[in-house]
Amino acid sequence: MNVLVVGGAGYIGSHMVKLLGGQGHTVVTFDNLSEGHRAAVTHGEFVEGDLHDRTLLVEVMQRHAIDSVIHFAASALVGESVQNPAKYYENNVVATFSLLEAMRRAGVGRIVFSSTCATYGQPEQVPIRESERQEPVNPYGFSKLVIEHMLADYAHAYDLAYAALRYFNASGAAEDGTIGEDHSPESHLIPIVLQVALGQRSHVSIFGDDYPTADGTCIRDYIHVNDLASAHLAALERLEPGTGIKLNLGTGVGQSVLEVIETCRKVTGHPIPVEVAPRRPGDPAELVADASAAWETLQWKARYTELEAIVATAWRWHQAHPRGYADRG
Ligand code: UDP
Repeated sequence: MNVLVVGGAGYIGSHMVKLLGGQGHTVVTFDNLSEGHRAAVTHGEFVEGDLHDRTLLVEVMQRHAIDSVIHFAASALVGESVQNPAKYYENNVVATFSLLEAMRRAGVGRIVFSSTCATYGQPEQVPIRESERQEPVNPYGFSKLVIEHMLADYAHAYDLAYAALRYFNASGAAEDGTIGEDHSPESHLIPIVLQVALGQRSHVSIFGDDYPTADGTCIRDYIHVNDLASAHLAALERLEPGTGIKLNLGTGVGQSVLEVIETCRKVTGHPIPVEVAPRRPGDPAELVADASAAWETLQWKARYTELEAIVATAWRWHQAHPRGYADRG
């Protein structure tokens, strides 16, 4: 396949590029480097560009005879989306509209899109099935849900073949420690805990310990980035014109914030001091996938089923690159 990976310099996108390149597919990364890192792109050609630049997109798709797009580029912080929704509608909805129009103009009819469990809002039932009602509780979730609807409409009207993959909590890093997670500022739990283990932070703040969960902290479903990448490849191989696949990608097992911290203590051997802080606005108490539909549809399931194994890969990356990509451009 000739695949354009939009947002391929980002955390999940870079693992996708590595998988595609490693399997011999032609892979082209398109990224504006607003969040991504040039050094994270390990295979294929890199094009620095913005999704609003439709002319460039069409030219890149035509020049590389692209047949499929995998779209990771997005703003993805719940709290920021509440403070600055315009950024989310611009970078997610408007930018994806531009991408879809460029695909139409270039005759590219297949796309796998990064959706999110945030489209479910506060789910009524956990584990969450794809049939759960989608009522986001923040602009980030809304922006992704709007795109799911756009894709369905484009499939109906223009024969687009699409998959919307609703990720739970992406985590971990490449097995060989060469690429991994590097956001600035960092806001995600596992990298923050590992920064404490590296001595870069004094402690971890636990955002709320009075949730209606067994230990009072929020429960999430942590899924390894390589598992996410392999699900995208499986989805690409199953796309059909005029129709969509909508699937949760998770392990089906939840871990509380305290359990994550305990696992990180075990993996790093560091005591990891904690402080309890107020709840973070927009955080549902529990988000865990029912991942059975992905198995039925794609014969895909997560290979990393133990959080300890996931954290071990993240720890390898953070130890080898304590400043992330800062030293590598
Ligand atoms: N969290 C926390 N302290 C932190 C960062 C995150 O307690 O410094 C909690 C957060 O409230 C959520 C869970 O850890 O319940 C996972 O948060 P993260 O930002 O990693 O992912 P999200 O679930 O928001 O996608």
